[in-house]
Amino acid sequence: MNEYDSNRILDLTKKINYNLTNKFNDTDCYILNTCHIREKATEKVYHDIGRLKKEFRNKKKPLVIIAGCVAQAEGDIILKKEKYIDAVVGPQSYHKINQIILNLEQDNSRLNHTEFEPIEKFDQLNLVKNNNSKVSSFVTIQEGCDKFCKFCVVPYTRGPEQSRSLIEITSEAKHLAKQGTKEIILLGQNVNAYSFGKHRLSDLLYALDDIKDLKRIRYTTSHPKDFTEDLIESHASCKKLMPLLHLPVQSGSTKILKRMNRGHTVEEYLEIIEKLKKKNPNLRFSSDFIIAYPDETELDFNKTISLMEKIKFVNSFSFIFSPRPGTPAANLNQIDFKIAKNRLLRFQSVANRIKKDYRNKLVGSPQNVLFENDAQKENTFFGRDEYFNSVIVHSKDDLTGKIKKVKISSCNHNTLFGEIIGDLKKTEYAA
Ligand code: SF4
Repeated sequence: MNEYDSNRILDLTKKINYNLTNKFNDTDCYILNTCHIREKATEKVYHDIGRLKKEFRNKKKPLVIIAGCVAQAEGDIILKKEKYIDAVVGPQSYHKINQIILNLEQDNSRLNHTEFEPIEKFDQLNLVKNNNSKVSSFVTIQEGCDKFCKFCVVPYTRGPEQSRSLIEITSEAKHLAKQGTKEIILLGQNVNAYSFGKHRLSDLLYALDDIKDLKRIRYTTSHPKDFTEDLIESHASCKKLMPLLHLPVQSGSTKILKRMNRGHTVEEYLEIIEKLKKKNPNLRFSSDFIIAYPDETELDFNKTISLMEKIKFVNSFSFIFSPRPGTPAANLNQIDFKIAKNRLLRFQSVANRIKKDYRNKLVGSPQNVLFENDAQKENTFFGRDEYFNSVIVHSKDDLTGKIKKVKISSCNHNTLFGEIIGDLKKTEYAA
């Protein structure tokens, strides 16, 4: 979402003639768009500012603006601690970026813009075209979260759940498709909590399915609690919806899920997966896991391993629990680091084996690949198959924006390699 937000900030600043530069040491305005999910996010901000101060020691100081979730979480603390920063702007206030820059140009009073104004933001951003021209483009449809998992900062940094109107989203998608986008990835902290008037995520998926030049649709990140029957049905009926679903579970133990305040049990999670597979047997799943959450016993951990073995997630993101300041879980007793590390390694070894088995089975199979860009080496192109696996092929023709059938010839942990064997049949992805 930060990548999307950064592009939108740029779309806005272009209106006042502030354009993107790659020259770190020759800029009039430096905007650091931060993410608070990462560990040590705040320290990284101070580290970057240190670098900047060094670069500009004998030059005119640029405007320095901290945007994103660290700005939201820290606000005045950052302004007090680091005088080099001119303004902080939270993720729900960045539509004001031009006014902030213009004000800073006029006088040097430092500013804190961390109000939650998502509706005003959505309205303002709708007035400015999304000028992304990538083959695969992000579109934010929903922001914020009402779930309050005990380990997570998002409800405090992005605020409550808010959705954009279906009409505005489809109009942005049509504009992107006209500029060459073939795949839209719908974004939201709780994307399947999407709700605008009578429209739900499934309505939006069908509306996007009808855009002729669009070939693929994905959405992330969803929450098991919001997995409604109509959304499950769309995985069978929506022709352009890709068959990989990222559905975070965090733990295979219902006891731990309860402690995390996830709002669902392991059994409910499995029920959703079963229903989805019944509707679309080609579906595969990826997930997020927090290992060694406070109070996790060896038995709880083994349940997480069992869940991994049962679903056979083709991709997973796993981390040792690390407390985020300001969240309820920050005050809980942590599991001994040695034990936590050992569990993480054991979990990842199972996850890697499953991933490896899955990828080895792809060798020799034909996959539909959407090519995104030149893979930097001459006559080499990078694309993704329907399951979001990276695929690299050789071709003398420019493949950017095309979908080709590729026979997979080999693979490593992150990439599949193959050769083009043909085009897609007319009936595939028919709009
Ligand atoms: S549902 Fe996701 S975004 Fe919301 S609090 Fe839980 S982990 Fe954070």
